[in-house]
Amino acid sequence: MSKQNIKCPKCGSTEVDVVKTWQLTSPIPDKYGRITVTVMGSIVCKTCNHSWRSVLSKIKIGDRGIAINDKEIAEEEGKRRVKEIVIDIDDILRENEEE
Ligand SMILES: [Zn+2]
Repeated sequence: MSKQNIKCPKCGSTEVDVVKTWQLTSPIPDKYGRITVTVMGSIVCKTCNHSWRSVLSKIKIGDRGIAINDKEIAEEEGKRRVKEIVIDIDDILRENEEE
């Protein structure tokens, strides 16, 4: 996972470790009918040992394609890059269809 945009809010160092990540899935689609998955991270600064939580990336998945951090990418590429998350999304979409 890219850490290049993460900066310690305390000392400003970019020498940080992402120690844990998890995903938050919003069940409410955006205006294009896409579901937003927010990837959160627990981050520790290697310089001052400050730890905090931050949004690492936002991924939007839907019929109109996939966007990572508001950057539209090809659907096939997106599926490869967010394979793990797509499985979760498929479950959600299936639940919605049953309603
Ligand atoms: Zn720091």
